[in-house]
Amino acid sequence: MTDTELRVSKIEDGTVIDHIAGGQALNVLAILGIDGGSGEEVSVGMNVPSDRLGRKDIVKVEGRELSQNEVDVLSLIAPAATINIVREFEVVEKHRVTRPETVAGVLSCPNANCISTADEPIESRFDVLEEGVRCTYCETIVRESIAAHISAA
Ligand SMILES: [Zn+2]
Repeated sequence: MTDTELRVSKIEDGTVIDHIAGGQALNVLAILGIDGGSGEEVSVGMNVPSDRLGRKDIVKVEGRELSQNEVDVLSLIAPAATINIVREFEVVEKHRVTRPETVAGVLSCPNANCISTADEPIESRFDVLEEGVRCTYCETIVRESIAAHISAA
């Protein structure tokens, strides 16, 4: 068993997000809506040595499996991430994130005049580009700090 597998198997039930680019762990927490007040049991490893990434971050969330929406947004900031679903200390599912063509309802458009941010907003929708995302409605492109535009978890 490798060192990584040992770390992964430490939670009882939940999700381990591995191979997050170094420094992105806090953005991953933001995507998952996890902060000090959420009461969830979370452990974070930062700047862990990694063969694949040099340095990587790892996030472990006890008692929770991620929704597809969450995984989709996660893929935008952590394209090399691996999602491990853990049940009774065993990894029962393991897969790489894939970048979706669009993400709906999870990011808010930075354009105050966009139809998706109006008084009676319609669900936001972004097309995923090589680098960044583009609002389907007003074509505003967000390239950096995507995590800062997350509207829901
Ligand atoms: Zn827009």
